[in-house]
Amino acid sequence: MTKPPMLTAQQALDHLLSHAQAVGEIEKVAMQAALGRVLAENVNSLVDVPPLDNTAMDGYAVRSADIATPGKSLKIAQRIPAGSMGTPLESGTAARIFTGAPVPPGADAVVMQEDCTLESESGQVTINTAPIAGQWIRRRGEDLTAGKTALTAGTFLRPQELGVAASAGLTHLSVKRRVKVAAFFTGDELALPGESLKPGGIYNSNRDTLLACLKSLGCDATDLGIVPDRLDATRDALRKASKDHDLIITSGGVSVGEEDHIKPAVTAEGRLDLWQIAIKPGKPLAFGAVRKSDDPKDGEAWFIGLPGNPVSSFVTFLLFVRPFILKLQGREAKLPQFYFIRADFDWLKADRRNEFLRVKLNSNGGLDLFPNQSSGVLTSASWGDGLVDCPPNQPIKAGDLVKYIPFDALLK
Ligand code: AMP
Ligand code: MG
Repeated sequence: MTKPPMLTAQQALDHLLSHAQAVGEIEKVAMQAALGRVLAENVNSLVDVPPLDNTAMDGYAVRSADIATPGKSLKIAQRIPAGSMGTPLESGTAARIFTGAPVPPGADAVVMQEDCTLESESGQVTINTAPIAGQWIRRRGEDLTAGKTALTAGTFLRPQELGVAASAGLTHLSVKRRVKVAAFFTGDELALPGESLKPGGIYNSNRDTLLACLKSLGCDATDLGIVPDRLDATRDALRKASKDHDLIITSGGVSVGEEDHIKPAVTAEGRLDLWQIAIKPGKPLAFGAVRKSDDPKDGEAWFIGLPGNPVSSFVTFLLFVRPFILKLQGREAKLPQFYFIRADFDWLKADRRNEFLRVKLNSNGGLDLFPNQSSGVLTSASWGDGLVDCPPNQPIKAGDLVKYIPFDALLK
């Protein structure tokens, strides 16, 4: 059997992303249901935010020209709490004003109450500073302008985006429909937690890791369960998975041994590229598409086959499946945020492959390494806060700055 081509992580990612296209369908959902979704259309503000010039402080609205020097006393001519409108401010008077209240016409500055002395008997206030025109005034429309774009299509909606849309006066948002992903897990050795393990059996951990990854990314995930290491069973599962899904992901069976049926099964039901990626953990990754029916008009579902080892499938999901899904969702599939952080460990046996080491931030602002970096040891990922992206053939010495990618940045 010919060996699959060896690609760098970047080549594999470029190849994947050159195929992915954003789903077209849009749905309108109430604001809270839009959390974690992708905005499908620009949001234009219905109003100016703030709607009027208003005060950023509790204090007194004044005409700055009335107070050339500190110590000037002014008559308190009106009181303007938030939510009510004042009247034009006469020269030589001040308006008692509270945060968020509109600055009355004629006033051009607010003096915070800490800089004023109230003389309650006379109904006067002494202004102990010389105000600068404009001070403590929040301008109408300085946040958003009516009719202008407040949020752009493709934005991933976090709590703060929902707040911006609400401030713009919207009740509902147009979002992309969720990306639908089917997942199944190959391996005769696999059992579900709760079942008893037969000799040689292990629990299926990839199911929970990968379904939760899909959930974190806001996908609609369908679990098609454990599929035995047989060609017919794998083909059946693929046919089932291709219906009503944009993407199929699987774990295991992507090597080219005789127990690995992903390659022949996907080739029979669609088309497949099998790659060796020069990364560790990881290595084999399958990418292709599965026909939705015999009628070509029905199209295809994308297929990504991950390796079976629990750390490999987790890491390859984060590095390759995540950006592919981001692009299907209509989001920008940019590289994850990374930081240069000091390694507080040695990693002298550099590999020919690009390694992704499981590390944890320590209380000295450096990184510690999980001692067992085997691709079967999933506790390394749960102990860790993220990955160090270690270039090929590059040993790490304690004190070196290394490229650190937090898991948090990869799970949203
Ligand atoms: P494979 O890629 O199918 O050759 O599997 C590689 C290794 O990963 C083997 O030790 C499998 O037992 C293990 N493995 C495969 N699938 C899973 C799974 N869903 N959960 C946990 N371990 C798995
Ligand atoms: Mg297997």
